[in-house]
Amino acid sequence: MPSIRDAVVVGAGPNGLTAAVELARRGFEVELFEAMDTVGGGARTEELTLPGFRHDPCSAVHPTGAGSPAFRAMPLAEHGLEWIHPELPLAHPFPDGTSAVLSHSVGETAASLGPRDAGAYRRLVAPFLGRWDELAADFLGYGSAFNGRFPHHPLLLARFGLTTLPPVTWAAKARFRDAKGPALLAGLAGHVIAPLNNPFIAAPALVFALAAHANGWPVPRGGSQAISDALAGYLRALGGTIHTGTEVKRLDELPPARAYVFDTSPTALARIAGLGSAYDGFRYGASLFKIDYALDGPVPWTSPEARRAGTVHVGPTLEDIDTAMRDAVVRGRAPEKPLLITSQPSLVDPTRAPEGKHVFWAYGHLPARWEGDATEAVERQLERFAPGFRDRVLARATAGPPQLAERNANYVGGDIACGSAAGLHLLIRPKLKRVPYTTAHPAVFLCSSATPPGPGVHGMAGHHAARAVWRRLRAAR
Ligand SMILES: Cc1cc2nc3c(=O)[nH]c(=O)nc-3n(C[C@H](O)[C@H](O)[C@H](O)COP(=O)(O)OP(=O)(O)OC[C@H]3O[C@@H](n4cnc5c(N)ncnc54)[C@H](O)[C@@H]3O)c2cc1C
Repeated sequence: MPSIRDAVVVGAGPNGLTAAVELARRGFEVELFEAMDTVGGGARTEELTLPGFRHDPCSAVHPTGAGSPAFRAMPLAEHGLEWIHPELPLAHPFPDGTSAVLSHSVGETAASLGPRDAGAYRRLVAPFLGRWDELAADFLGYGSAFNGRFPHHPLLLARFGLTTLPPVTWAAKARFRDAKGPALLAGLAGHVIAPLNNPFIAAPALVFALAAHANGWPVPRGGSQAISDALAGYLRALGGTIHTGTEVKRLDELPPARAYVFDTSPTALARIAGLGSAYDGFRYGASLFKIDYALDGPVPWTSPEARRAGTVHVGPTLEDIDTAMRDAVVRGRAPEKPLLITSQPSLVDPTRAPEGKHVFWAYGHLPARWEGDATEAVERQLERFAPGFRDRVLARATAGPPQLAERNANYVGGDIACGSAAGLHLLIRPKLKRVPYTTAHPAVFLCSSATPPGPGVHGMAGHHAARAVWRRLRAAR
């Protein structure tokens, strides 16, 4: 008789690794299979351009990772994870050379929005300051509501919900009198690939702002691979087994197990586990065009604040950002002036590039499956705020929707969020269900960012899925 594992996990992204760790640390025997040659999914680091330049092909900055209740409960520092903090988490430069900033200090952030709007920013964040742990338990932990748990802090969550329900396009104008506050908020909301006039898009924007005040927006020393390697190291220390270079195509290829946990897209899960049309209605979202740069020196931003920030948003006004998001997500065309989300980790981590050189990435949004080269549009935007940028480029690696989809099977059509975030899809994923981590097959579970609380390197979907698994395994025992 072959031995039966307690759980087999498919996919070693942050959620698959977290699910595996959560089960192993509760005494279950876990085996994990990953298609790529290294673990990490959206949290990996590679020499994409030139020798000695260590790029993050996907995630780079980790406001929700550093504040993740799941990661904080694990000894990841003992397995090599070290967070490093840039001087400023975020700068949002304007054509006149000034910037709105997101700083650890609420005062500095408020002041950067101008005297007429500083008070409005303080009033926006005040009810939630110093309450990150409570908020994260319910916001990042809101998947637990589907697992039979009542929110830990229902009044705080209700207040947060009411504050963030109105669309960013409306709320930003109602709260702020000048242009910098709305632009800052719109840039933060732009991390969610959805139109700014959708309800609840302000929720992640406010979470990102509160994360900056509570924990910062750190980068892991050595790159995002350090998060995945720490999770994998901890899993192995707990007795778990990891197989890389193994793409799973059918459930019956896997060893016998009491539970199968999939860090995959819902449609791939349906195909592999024979769930028929279970996720035929699942919608994927828009995509992006990403460029990883090897640079001869730091980005020559005109704004001094942008030269001190780990992340820089390029898209001067709320109106510009709104147009760019509508173009990519609703109108199905490439924005002329994309909102750029950019990351410059080597400002604080010298291990990422040879001395005096830098790694830098920038991405702008595009419709799913868009084919073409958006390098010119991206670099035109960069040159407006960092004249002379192109002269510093030693090498670039570009990836549009088809290349992103090739990098990771979860990015269907180039959708890096593994599911649309438009409408209520950010809240209800992959479909309306009391426990969204369970499927029609009693031994098969889904744990990817297609489930609550959605995208980001925080492992919380893996954490909630593991909870659904261990409840079932214990009930079976
Ligand atoms: C360009 C870009 C920038 C980003 N920036 C940030 C950021 O700065 N901060 C942040 O927090 N998040 C960021 N993200 C989002 C973040 O990376 C994802 O939300 C996160 O990685 C999702 O984790 P996951 O475990 O659900 O899936 P993934 O990380 O996608 O991992 C899924 C894994 O499953 C494997 N797999 C899939 N199918 C199979 C199969 N059939 N057999 C075996 N293995 C399989 C894949 O190879 C992959 O390793 C970014 C993403 C991208 C693409």
